[in-house]
Amino acid sequence: MANGQLIADLRALVGEQGLVTGEQLLARTYDRAAGEVHARVLIRPRDTAQVAAVLRLCHSRGQTVVTHGGLTGLVYGAAASTDDVIVSLEALNRIESVDVPGRTMRVEAGVTLQRVQEEAERHDLMFPLDLGGRGSATIGGNISTNAGGMRVVRYGMMRSLVLGVEAVLADGTVLGSLNRMLKNNAGYDLKQLFIGTEGTLGIVTRADLRLMPRPRSHGTAFVACPDFASVARLLTVMDGQLGGQLSAFEVMWPEFYEVTTTSPASNAAVLPYGHSMYVLIEALGADPQSDAERLEQALAEAMELGLIADAVIAKSDLERRAMWAPREDVFQTRRFGPTHNFDVSLSIADMPAYLETLRRGLKECAPAARMYVFGHVADGNLHVVVSAGEAHEATFHAVERCVYEPLRSISGSISAEHGIGLERKAYLSISRTPAEIATMRALKAALDPRGILNPGKVFDVQAS
Ligand code: ZN
Repeated sequence: MANGQLIADLRALVGEQGLVTGEQLLARTYDRAAGEVHARVLIRPRDTAQVAAVLRLCHSRGQTVVTHGGLTGLVYGAAASTDDVIVSLEALNRIESVDVPGRTMRVEAGVTLQRVQEEAERHDLMFPLDLGGRGSATIGGNISTNAGGMRVVRYGMMRSLVLGVEAVLADGTVLGSLNRMLKNNAGYDLKQLFIGTEGTLGIVTRADLRLMPRPRSHGTAFVACPDFASVARLLTVMDGQLGGQLSAFEVMWPEFYEVTTTSPASNAAVLPYGHSMYVLIEALGADPQSDAERLEQALAEAMELGLIADAVIAKSDLERRAMWAPREDVFQTRRFGPTHNFDVSLSIADMPAYLETLRRGLKECAPAARMYVFGHVADGNLHVVVSAGEAHEATFHAVERCVYEPLRSISGSISAEHGIGLERKAYLSISRTPAEIATMRALKAALDPRGILNPGKVFDVQAS
């Protein structure tokens, strides 16, 4: 536990305003879904220099540090014990500049994703990363977890949208790798060390983001397909027919579609029940008239090929939101009790057999469990939500094995976008080789030799 001397020394660095302890800290509520947070000290640095000073001090004392962003993660990556000091980047929330012709934005790490999206729009540009937690999730968190979301099929994950970062290393060294150029092969691309490494190698304090042209047309369609094979062929047809405009291809299995469109959910069913699969298609382009025709034509062709059983195209923003609502209302899956959220990655061709194996496995290990499947599919990412009722821990572990083990033989990933955190580290070896994990440990040892940054996350530092 952080002692009085440490607290006094931290206070000297960040001032009274920069330190949260006692009742004030206990009053902050933490969603258990993000993991247990029991730290007694939270630091709110105002700038990079303060982050560096805090880490220099913590490094010299061997004091562990857990960095907090918007706390929308799902793998306990922000969990903090009574022994840890939390560094929250909430006060680093400035948008510093936008370069319109260069299509970049420089921001501090605590800015929320939604603010970045809105600022880009104000300049007639777009920041394409999008996910349900946009109002709380921060850019620093998006970088540290290499966030994905709905538009990865077209714009890639966070990694593709970050041009440069400034990060503070465990010992307080400020690594200024800010960079606004799309092309820069001058030696190692060090920013990659901080993208998707879940706060274990450094604290991201600022970033240069890549912006895109703001779309002028926004086509959205909701379709029903007779089977998964049709969904896969539909993706190929849409990819080809939409001339690079396909920006989301969200697939819902019937159990998920039904739970998010029936009471107490307030979302209306977009198409009737009874179909095998439902797909939400989004196309972003530059010409409202011709793009709308192109989307209609593409859907007509898919219908002729028998890939679509029913379809509806949004004619207004209101209709578009009504189509997205069931897809985004994942919370409805908690209706029957606590859930386990998985986000696996695998090739599209492997999906039907994988889900069949998973269903069989669940029937054995948790017969009362409900399973909801939806996902981005075009990028290979399936979300599987298992509601196992009042199950105890042993059942949860059995469910985890049901989800993860079949991925081994098909070279799938136990995490497409949520990361490893605490929750999945026991399964890392399903998706990473011993040599890969050893190299991760070597990087950790080089950059954080005292193991103070986000301890225990992703893998254990000592080989077990
Ligand atoms: Zn997702």
